[in-house]
Amino acid sequence: MIPGLWRLRLPLPFPGVPHCNAWAIAAGDGVVLVDTGMHEPGSMAELERSLAQVGLGVEQVRLLACTHAHVDHWGQAATIRDRAGCEFWMHPNHRHGFATATDPELALARRLEIGRQSGMPEEILQRYAERSRGMASGIARAIEPDQALVDGVEIETDLGVWTVLETPGHAPSHVCLFQAERRLLISGDHILGRISLYFDYGWTHDPIGEFLSSLDVTDGLGARLALSGHGKPFIDVHGHIEANRALVRERLDAALAAVRHRAKTAIEIAASVFGEDLTETNTGWRLQETLCYLRHLELQGRVSRESDADLATWGGISI
Ligand SMILES: [Zn+2]
Ligand SMILES: [Zn+2]
Repeated sequence: MIPGLWRLRLPLPFPGVPHCNAWAIAAGDGVVLVDTGMHEPGSMAELERSLAQVGLGVEQVRLLACTHAHVDHWGQAATIRDRAGCEFWMHPNHRHGFATATDPELALARRLEIGRQSGMPEEILQRYAERSRGMASGIARAIEPDQALVDGVEIETDLGVWTVLETPGHAPSHVCLFQAERRLLISGDHILGRISLYFDYGWTHDPIGEFLSSLDVTDGLGARLALSGHGKPFIDVHGHIEANRALVRERLDAALAAVRHRAKTAIEIAASVFGEDLTETNTGWRLQETLCYLRHLELQGRVSRESDADLATWGGISI
C-alpha cells in the first residue's frame, strides 16, 4: 500500500483475536519495527517469515518501538533486541505488563482477589487459577526500555518523523505514533477497525477517564488512515473515535441503570452490562471493564462503593 511501510500479520493463540499486526517502516539501511507479536513456541519463526515475505530480516531492525506492554505487542521484545542489537523503546508505565512475567503467582493472586471481591463464585476462580498456572506468560523476558516513549519523542524514518502521543486507557503504557505530513496514525489497540473495548483495571486512577482524554488527543490530529494493532488499516478515524465514545457512554449508562434499585456486586453489574455476551473465557476481561466503569462513575459521584473484607458492592446515588 504505502512504499516503505509493511504490515506484518502475526498469529495469536487467543479465541476471537487470531492475529496482531507489527509494522515495519523503512529507515536508512534498515527498518523501525513497531510491536513484536507474542512470545510462544515458533513465534520468532512467524515474525521472520512475515519479514522475509517483504524482503526483510530481523537483523535489519534498527529500532524497536512498542505501542504498549500487552503480550501481543511487546512479548518478543527481548529476543528481537538480542538478535538485532537494536534499542527498544516503550512507555515507562509498563508495570501492568511486567507483573505476569516477573512474578506470575503474585499477579494471579491479585486477579483472584479482584474476582473474589467482585462476587465471582469460588469454583470459577479455582478453574481460572488452574488454567492460568498452566499458561506461559507470552513474554520472552521482561526488559526495561532503553528510552521512554513519552509525549513528543520523535522517531525518524524514510516516511518522515513519527511523533509519540501518550494514549493511556486501553493500557497504562499505551502510545500512538503520528506521521503528520502523511496523516498516518499507528494506533496500537487504542482504536481498532472493529469497535472493541479493553481496559486494564487497578494500575491507574481512572482508566475510562484516561481513555476518553486519549480519544480527544487522537481526534485532534486529523489522521486520515489508522494502522491498528489488529485487523486491517482503516479510514474515517474520527468516525471510529466517535463510535468508541458512544460505546463507552452506553456501557456507563448500563452500569448505572443496573444499580438503580439496589446495590450489586461487580459480577452482577457485568451481567447486566454485557448480558449473554458474558462467557467463562471473557468474564475476566469484562469484569475488569465493568470495574473501570464503576470506578469512573464513583469519581463522578454517581455510584458509591461499600465493602468488607470479602465483598464489595456498588449502589446508585440519588441526586
Ligand atoms: Zn492491548
Ligand atoms: Zn493487542
